[in-house]
Amino acid sequence: MDFIRQLGIRESQHGVSTGTQWLGSKGPVIESYSPVDGSLIGAVVSADKAAYDTVVTRAMEAFPVWRMWPAPKRGEIVRQVGEALRRKKEDLGRLVSYEMGKSLQEGLGEVQEMIDICDFAVGLSRQLYGLTMHSERPAHRMYEQWHPLGAVGIISAFNFPVAVWSWNSALAWVCGNVTIWKPSEKTPLCGIAVQHIIAEVFAANQVPEGVCCLVQGARETGEWISHDTRIALVSATGSTRMGKALGAAVAARMGKSILELGGNNAIILSQHADLDMALIGCVFGAVGTAGQRCTTTRRLVIHEAVYETFKERLVKAYTQLRIGNPLDTANHVGPLIDKDAVQNYLAAIAQCRQQGGRFAVEGKVLEGKGYESGCYVQPCIAEADNEMAIVQHETFAPILYLMRYTTMEEAIALQNGVPQGLSSSIMTLNMREAEQFLSHAGSDCGIANVNIGTSGAEIGGAFGGEKETGGGRESGSDAWKAYMRRQTNTINWSDRLPLAQGISFDL
Ligand code: NAD
Repeated sequence: MDFIRQLGIRESQHGVSTGTQWLGSKGPVIESYSPVDGSLIGAVVSADKAAYDTVVTRAMEAFPVWRMWPAPKRGEIVRQVGEALRRKKEDLGRLVSYEMGKSLQEGLGEVQEMIDICDFAVGLSRQLYGLTMHSERPAHRMYEQWHPLGAVGIISAFNFPVAVWSWNSALAWVCGNVTIWKPSEKTPLCGIAVQHIIAEVFAANQVPEGVCCLVQGARETGEWISHDTRIALVSATGSTRMGKALGAAVAARMGKSILELGGNNAIILSQHADLDMALIGCVFGAVGTAGQRCTTTRRLVIHEAVYETFKERLVKAYTQLRIGNPLDTANHVGPLIDKDAVQNYLAAIAQCRQQGGRFAVEGKVLEGKGYESGCYVQPCIAEADNEMAIVQHETFAPILYLMRYTTMEEAIALQNGVPQGLSSSIMTLNMREAEQFLSHAGSDCGIANVNIGTSGAEIGGAFGGEKETGGGRESGSDAWKAYMRRQTNTINWSDRLPLAQGISFDL
């Protein structure tokens, strides 16, 4: 496994860094086992409270220096980070695949997303535009400008172990902020590898220590961040359960948060769809990353006229899926992240059956050669009702629920009839249906696609969802505004002091 060494990962390492320097700490040791083959890849010492406090102090010291670097100069650092990631794409993509279990294609794709957001942020570093308004008072100029916030805490989930960090960091840095990242405790080595890549670029450019910090740890470390009044913005990606606790903690101290939480995404399959194309979109959406994407297709809402034929085609496609080592590009589906995830999958299948679901493709844990880690499962399909408790819940595994509809109003109501609101799509060649789905009376999700599945967003758009998905937006479009504070400035260049709204005040 040359790629592990190439990325600077050893058997055991510190998990706390202020940029180029690693700090000692006495926090719990996190061992990282690959779900691919069950091997121990390496161990990381997580942050204790003293090391965490040192990191935040360094970050706060770096902020006043870093924010005065011109934004395009900060952008130049991000450009070099993008170049370093290009050089390391193959190795880092392999590590993502090996530590998290997604296919090599998807691991490489995740690193490509990091490169793409760096490119985007470089352009942004020469923009960050504020508006100019017309004052109602003579000889006054009014405009708004955007200032950095300070320290940005990034708490990320295991399923995108590196890309989510880059969406936040690349934007946060060009905006003039410093970052403190707590990766998922399930994928700590991806965090170590990224920090090594950054350290080289930061050292070569004398970037102040404290701009790019890493604190490894589990939930408690995340709680230190959410309660820390020194951290202006917390961008957290993970389950809705985590987001509810974290959102309340950050709001209680009047901090800002970006919440990117669970999804329960549906595709509406119309009788007017191109069924060949739709089949690929539905299967990839449901089984890609073994159903562990926030945007995974969990529900298929199918028109009654094509329900039976499409179900048959889906079942056939599922029998052709190759499940196995994700580093082998011949395989379509890799493992779940760990055995707890396998237990959740089995529990969801049992609940589905108990609540009246009927399985068209049965689920099971795979055994035998190549499946020794115990994390490989059969993607399954159940016919179910939207109201069933298990269907309303996001199970992070490849379980697809089928349901039928008659009218488009009914289909949209089913699509929207869950607590989550991340991604949605319609497969149709009928323009009226597509527009209805995209109208104010259509999908209530943050992402609504036509003739594309629910997963696989591009960095150019703002990414995020509504309702229990948390309302946050990251990545492209004007998502950068969440990393800055807006200031309205009015300048009086006259020799009088007229008051707004015509109020007179004379002495
Ligand atoms: P998780 O909620 O278990 O953990 C996510 C992160 O939050 C981890 O780093 C964890 O240590 C930390 N954490 C947990 N409890 C915390 C608390 N109370 N305070 C502070 N930090 C805390 O999620 P997971 O299992 O790693 O990831 C899967 C979930 O993430 C799914 O629900 C998925 O939909 C969601 N997700 C959402 C998006 C999105 O953009 N909407 C993207 C990826 C994943």
